[in-house]
Amino acid sequence: MKYSPDYIANLQPYVAGKTIAEVKKAYNPERIAKLASNENRLGCSPNVHSAVSEAMKVVQDYPDPASMQLRQELAEFYKQDVSRIVCASGSEGVMTLFTRAFIQEGDHVITAGATFIGFLVLANIQGANLQRIPLTEDFRFDVKAIADAVTNKTKVVYIANPNNPTGTIISETEYEWLLNNIPAHVIVIMDEAYFEYSQSFEEFPDSLVGQPENVIVFRTFSKAYGLAGLRVGYAIGDEKWISIMTKIKPPFDPSVVAQFAGIAALKDRDFLQKGLEIVESGRMRLYQFLDTMNLKYVPSYSNSVMLVFDSTLKAEEFTQNMLERGVILRRLPGFGLPNCVRVTIGLPDEMEFFEKHCAEVVEA
Ligand SMILES: *Cc1c(COP(=O)(O)O)cnc(C)c1O
Repeated sequence: MKYSPDYIANLQPYVAGKTIAEVKKAYNPERIAKLASNENRLGCSPNVHSAVSEAMKVVQDYPDPASMQLRQELAEFYKQDVSRIVCASGSEGVMTLFTRAFIQEGDHVITAGATFIGFLVLANIQGANLQRIPLTEDFRFDVKAIADAVTNKTKVVYIANPNNPTGTIISETEYEWLLNNIPAHVIVIMDEAYFEYSQSFEEFPDSLVGQPENVIVFRTFSKAYGLAGLRVGYAIGDEKWISIMTKIKPPFDPSVVAQFAGIAALKDRDFLQKGLEIVESGRMRLYQFLDTMNLKYVPSYSNSVMLVFDSTLKAEEFTQNMLERGVILRRLPGFGLPNCVRVTIGLPDEMEFFEKHCAEVVEA
C-alpha cells in the first residue's frame, strides 16, 4: 500500500539553525550570539508581556475563531476592509491555507531558485509542478524570466520581498512591470515577512497601494515585532481568496495568546521603531566592517546580510569556526547557495562580538 504520494514521501526534513543550548554543550564558548534565524534580538514589546498575562486568564476557553479584534486592529492600521484579512499561526500558517486552498497536484507554480524554503515545502506537499527560476547574478528575483515562464496554465507566482536568504528586493519599477506583463489569472503572492525593515527604502513597492485582485500579501509578527515563538501572521487580499482561506483554517488558529500578543505588538510603535533603527545602523556598520575585511556581501533590505564566499569549503569552514567561538550563523546549501552564509543583524554588542571573531577567523 502506498500511503503517501512520492512528492510527500521524498520531502527532506527541515534543518533549523543550531540552538544556543546545543552550541553551549558542544563548544562552551565565552558567550553566544545567535545570528542565524533572522529573529529580533531586541525581543518583543513589554506591552506584549502584559497582554500575554491577560490572555492567560482566558486560556481555558477557545479563542475567537475569527480573530476579530486583531483583524480589526490590522484593518484600521492598514486602512483595509476587515473582510480582506485572515490571521493564522505565522505567515507559514497563512501560506499553508493558501497552498491547500489554491494549489493542487500538477499545478504550475513559479518562484525563484533561492528563496524561502517554507514555501517550496508547502507547494511540494500539494504536488505542485514547481518551476524555480534562477536568481540574477546579483542574487535578485529575475522578473523578466519569471514573466517569460508564465503560461496559460500557470496558477501562482511566489515572490518573497525582500527575499530570504538574499535580503534583496524587486523594486517598485520591477513589481509594476511584472504585474503588467503577466496575465491576471495568475495569483501573485507577495511574501513580505521583512516588510517593516524595507518600507523606508524609496524603491521598495508598497503592495497594499492599489492592490490588484490577483495580488495577495503575507505579513507576520515574527520578525520586526519579535513574536516568532508565538506564531501569528496574516494575509491581505481580495475577499474571494480570503474567504476560501478562512473556510479551511483550523478554526482556533492563531491561539488566544497569539491574538492578544499581536494586538499589543501592533500598537507599540516605539518598540518597533527602536528595532528598525538597531537593524539599520547595524547593517551600515556591518557593511563597513566587511569592506575592511574584504569579504563579499549582498546589500540587504532586511534584517540579515548574506556573505558570499569563493567556494563551498570556505563558507563551511567560516561558519564552523564562528560556531566554535559562539557565533551562530546560517549556511545556505538548503537554499541552493552552498557558498553563502546569512548573518542576522543583532544588537550592537552582538555585532561587536561577531566582528571580533570574524576578524580572527578570517586572519587565521
Ligand atoms: C521568516 C519568514 C517567514 C515565516 O514567518 P512566520 O510568520 O514565522 O511563519 C515567511 N516568509 C519569509 C520569506 C521568511 O523569511
